[in-house]
Amino acid sequence: MRSILPLILVALLGSYPVYSCPHGEHSASSFEEGLEVARMNNARRAIREIPKPKKTAIKNVRVFDGEKLLPLGTIFINGERIVPYVEGAEVIDGNGGTLLSGLIDAHTHPVSVDHLELLASYGVTTTIVASCYPNAVCDSLKNHTGLTDVRFSGMSASSPNSTHALMLGLKPNETLTSASQAPQFVANQLEVGATFIKIVAERPDSATTLDQSTMNALVTSAHANDLRVACHAADYAAVERALTAQVDQAHHVPSDTPADPALISRFLAQKTVSVPTLSIFRQFVLGGVAPPSSYAVANASVTQLYQASVPILAGTDSNNLPTLEVAYGRALHEELELLVEAGMSTVDVLRSATVLAAHHNLLFDRGVVAPGMRADLLLISGDPVANISATRNIQRVWIAGVEYEGVAKS
Ligand SMILES: [Zn+2]
Repeated sequence: MRSILPLILVALLGSYPVYSCPHGEHSASSFEEGLEVARMNNARRAIREIPKPKKTAIKNVRVFDGEKLLPLGTIFINGERIVPYVEGAEVIDGNGGTLLSGLIDAHTHPVSVDHLELLASYGVTTTIVASCYPNAVCDSLKNHTGLTDVRFSGMSASSPNSTHALMLGLKPNETLTSASQAPQFVANQLEVGATFIKIVAERPDSATTLDQSTMNALVTSAHANDLRVACHAADYAAVERALTAQVDQAHHVPSDTPADPALISRFLAQKTVSVPTLSIFRQFVLGGVAPPSSYAVANASVTQLYQASVPILAGTDSNNLPTLEVAYGRALHEELELLVEAGMSTVDVLRSATVLAAHHNLLFDRGVVAPGMRADLLLISGDPVANISATRNIQRVWIAGVEYEGVAKS
């Protein structure tokens, strides 16, 4: 089998030059390869030994409670959950380290179980997969006990001949040409287990982008089904269109013209959150792609959004596209550093990858270290409030109470 996969649905294609696909012609091959990868993922689930969650006491740790580090204490796990106390627990000494809620990456593109292993090894216990193709791939990443928990959008909503559609070789019936198709598109994604809807917005002058009425109808249909909407929008005009459509999350940030008060006031008025994905913007620079827009502008947009109190979630756009690779797991730690560089406080950056990411993705069973919550935990040495890079000092990781063996040493 050829190397996996050109399934990556990346990224900032609306505002950057169109990339030639490293795997040549797409057409049906993406779809067929995807089915094969899904089969392999499902096979690995079937043969995996399922570790049992245990009773665990993690002593001598400072818990990040979403606001600050608490004094040294002990956290108890019973099965999949954090509990106030449990008898007979195996005691683990945290050696004065920090216990964080497991990290949530709000924008990724994993396609194989290996990618879940990488995410888990870096303490990313939940990942939001920002589109699937085919949907069988995302489905095959679900329910791998002890590995990163996956939420996904189903297919991205895009128009025929858009960069995204051409890149993936989407069939005509997998794209939209009018607002009237929106309800069926949303129903199709719901049917395959989507927990949110992803829309691709490009500049209004792009002849191949979804028109505004179709975007609006997609949001209306999604909301009618209690689904939130994330929208790819990487330049100022595309973000304007996303806001006009009333999306819940704007993914990427303006990278041609910085976010300004006029744009930011719309974020605030309709409570749209931002998932900047600075990691992929930086990768464009590192990868030598000559964009018409810049990392500095993306960075400035984050600064402006943050200073205006627009909620920001940490997301990386992690993917395995050779020319634009953003490493699964490790990139989230880099993203946290980039967000600090953009002017966010370390506390707000930690919140962006835990409690806020959970809240805005409707994952109310995680994101904070508290009794009753899923035992998704990341034990690190050092103080990430003093220095965000301490999140890289990974000691142990638990996912729904199952300790992940083989954490990353970075
Ligand atoms: Zn993406």
